[in-house]
Amino acid sequence: MPRSARRAKGGARQKSRGAGQASRRGRQNWLNVAYVVFALSLVGIMVFFLAINPASPSPGPSPSPSPLLSRPGDHWHASYAITICGTPVPQFPDDTSGIGIHTHGDGQIHIEPERAADAGYNANLARFMTSTGGTLTEDTLQLPDGRKYTNSDLCPDGRPGQVGLLVNGHEVRPIASYVPQNGDNIALSFAPLP
Ligand SMILES: [Zn+2]
Repeated sequence: MPRSARRAKGGARQKSRGAGQASRRGRQNWLNVAYVVFALSLVGIMVFFLAINPASPSPGPSPSPSPLLSRPGDHWHASYAITICGTPVPQFPDDTSGIGIHTHGDGQIHIEPERAADAGYNANLARFMTSTGGTLTEDTLQLPDGRKYTNSDLCPDGRPGQVGLLVNGHEVRPIASYVPQNGDNIALSFAPLP
């Protein structure tokens, strides 16, 4: 075989190997594109579900039947919100009671006992309401302004309401003796039963 022919054949072999590499590279590129599209659609689906479901965050940890008990010197925080027949009650103002479970007008319950009377099981929601000038029992919620709501009282829509408590999205009873835990999300309400 003349040398030039051999060279041509080799060249052809090299060219076809190059083409093989190119098509492998092409497949790789398409795979990468597919991965990116797949990842983006997953993100899209997550964003979609978060967007249609903003009002119902997944519940946090269930309240423990044996709560941690605060001691003098501790300083815990739990966020709180109160609604009456669906209407939010404005945040209570900065504390003037001197009670060790109170708020500073920031939407937080501060559990910072300085004595046993405000610590442990005493640092409960009823004592918090007392610090604001209101009261809380199992069936009555009285706001500092004197408005008082007792189970079976009627909401403006004519339906009887009931005192209720959600902690981190979980319904909790008993209510008045609940001991807020550091990081809790407390939602106290007087509302018609669903
Ligand atoms: Zn604090």
